[in-house]
Amino acid sequence: MGIDLHTHSSVSDGTESPAELMATARAAGLDVVALTDHDTTAGWARAEAGRPHGLTVVPGMEMSCRWFPADDGRPVSIHLLAYLFDPAHPGFAAERLRLRDERRSRAERMVEALVADGHPLSWPEILAARNGGVVGRPHIARALVDAGSVESVDHAFATLLHPTSPYYVPKADTDVLTGISLVRTAGGVPVFAHGLASKRGRVVGDDAIVAMAGAGLLGLEVDHPDHRADERAHLRGVAADLGLIVTGSSDYHGTNKGTSIGAELTARDQFELLLAAGTGTAPYRD
Ligand code: AMP
Ligand code: ZN
Ligand code: FE
Ligand code: FE
Repeated sequence: MGIDLHTHSSVSDGTESPAELMATARAAGLDVVALTDHDTTAGWARAEAGRPHGLTVVPGMEMSCRWFPADDGRPVSIHLLAYLFDPAHPGFAAERLRLRDERRSRAERMVEALVADGHPLSWPEILAARNGGVVGRPHIARALVDAGSVESVDHAFATLLHPTSPYYVPKADTDVLTGISLVRTAGGVPVFAHGLASKRGRVVGDDAIVAMAGAGLLGLEVDHPDHRADERAHLRGVAADLGLIVTGSSDYHGTNKGTSIGAELTARDQFELLLAAGTGTAPYRD
């Protein structure tokens, strides 16, 4: 079985519409795909409507969270995958709305600062290019490429948009323990995404994962393109110790990133555990 539990559509920072993404998943031979756009469920209905025969679609989301380490006050960014939750749960829906507002005001401040230093960006054009979806740094990166300020999206992330850049503005993401509890209250399955991907920046220690498990975390994304072999081995051990589900996923973003859909997969028995734990929304299937 081909099971890929982490993909992005143009509703956040992928390049394919939800329906196109479903067709891509089927064409790649997948049996199961999860749609996990950042901080929004706006693509769910279009993924369901565009679902090819034979493909099981798991409605999900990747929630922007943060963890505050005990030793210093600087938060570490955490991406929390959430599957099969009830999108109408009021507390969770309100927090998603706050996160999207936060993304928008933060992106606008970054663009204003770049414009003030002579980068010819247009905030209305960036907003228009995101097609009504959730705005993120990838949208600013593409605009910087179009403006000739940087040679590539990768270069933009490595320089002007990097967390150490003077133009970088942090987002007030959800405390991860609150996020986990909201997902569970809405009947969803919370899974810690690319938890040890040190190439992305600072990562948390095992103490954070233990605390997250105590708050109701149900799984760890172990097989992810950004994880090295040693990082995968460590996470697999933590999952075994804590009794957590182990997933593998491509984190496909269309042509915004080099990874192919289905590049990393989840084992069938782990997927069955995840399905059994999700009670807020049923998967879309034949
Ligand atoms: P943001 O959520 O606005 O802070 O932007 C982070 C998003 O940018 C995440 O979805 C990443 O997957 C994406 N991202 C990070 N690095 C790159 C890169 N080099 N090229 C394209 N997208 C990236
Ligand atoms: Zn993304
Ligand atoms: Fe992520
Ligand atoms: Fe992702």
